[in-house]
Amino acid sequence: MSEFDIIQRYFTNLGVSHAETVIGVGDDAAVMNIPEDSQLVTTVDTMLEGVHFFKKTPPALLATKLVAVNLSDLAAMGAYPKWAMLSLTLPNIDHDWLQSFSKALSKLLTRYDVQLIGGDTTKGHFAFSLSVFGLVPLNKAILRSNAQIGDDVYLSGTVGDAAIGLQITDRKLEQYQLDDSHFLQALYQPEPRVKMALMLADMMHSCIDVSDGVVSELQHIAKASDVGMEIEINKLPLSKPYQHFIQQGGHYDYALYGGEDYELCFTIAPGQETMLGYIAEQCGASLTKIGTVTDSGTLHLTLNGEPVNVNQSGYDHFT
Ligand code: ADP
Ligand code: MG
Repeated sequence: MSEFDIIQRYFTNLGVSHAETVIGVGDDAAVMNIPEDSQLVTTVDTMLEGVHFFKKTPPALLATKLVAVNLSDLAAMGAYPKWAMLSLTLPNIDHDWLQSFSKALSKLLTRYDVQLIGGDTTKGHFAFSLSVFGLVPLNKAILRSNAQIGDDVYLSGTVGDAAIGLQITDRKLEQYQLDDSHFLQALYQPEPRVKMALMLADMMHSCIDVSDGVVSELQHIAKASDVGMEIEINKLPLSKPYQHFIQQGGHYDYALYGGEDYELCFTIAPGQETMLGYIAEQCGASLTKIGTVTDSGTLHLTLNGEPVNVNQSGYDHFT
């Protein structure tokens, strides 16, 4: 089977079909109309076998995660997701794998109103990357650099579960009684906060998605905005299974430094709790205040009011 047959069979007409798409899969490149009152927002994420997944990881989980990590980045910019491009490098042609991957990818793209408009297919070491494209109203992208002194700092959902899931796949933490399926679900099937980010877009001063750990993301916002932060560790939103882990003598490090949560971390002007409560309810995920933005210039962590050192940063591929 040729490269063209693979594209035709597995990667044509995936996801939705948008009126703004002039040319999708099939020509040398895709063509889209960008509405005059919008700006294009784009990002790409790569997954490598051996680093981000294993040969045996089910293709549907890979597709789910690939879409989630990319849409999470668009969400953190306040962008409405529209298009995606898939770059796929396969060691061999495995029709069962391609079939499952394509089906799951299409389902996920459809759920988030995204159209696959192209990509690239090559033979080599197992890897893939997805580029996504979204639209924001003119000059309304939410940046890391706009946190204001006096803002409240918020997290969506819960943090730390994916990092514990990763430990479980490495057969660590076996001395604890853990709800494995909960943590593995968090690792493999994160839910990008697309709807929530769009509902919050007019309120957020700054936003970042939690891919490398809460502390690392807070430091990014603090640095880009030239502000400090006071964060209370005891306020971090933890799932019931994570709380159970703490009760058994577990620690907060996975929540602070773990990464791959794909939650929104953002700052907003104080006093908007009622609206936040409404949005949380509409989106079926919590919104939790974890601290405030200060003029100190650095990130200060406290645990039950006592100062705690910031001792690690998030996962970094080069260290
Ligand atoms: P070219 O050789 O001109 O780069 P390709 O054969 O790579 O063209 O691709 C032909 C068409 O198929 C293009 O529209 C391209 O974007 C699309 N395409 C290739 N691989 C994929 C893929 N894995 N998923 C989606 N579209 C793809
Ligand atoms: Mg090509």
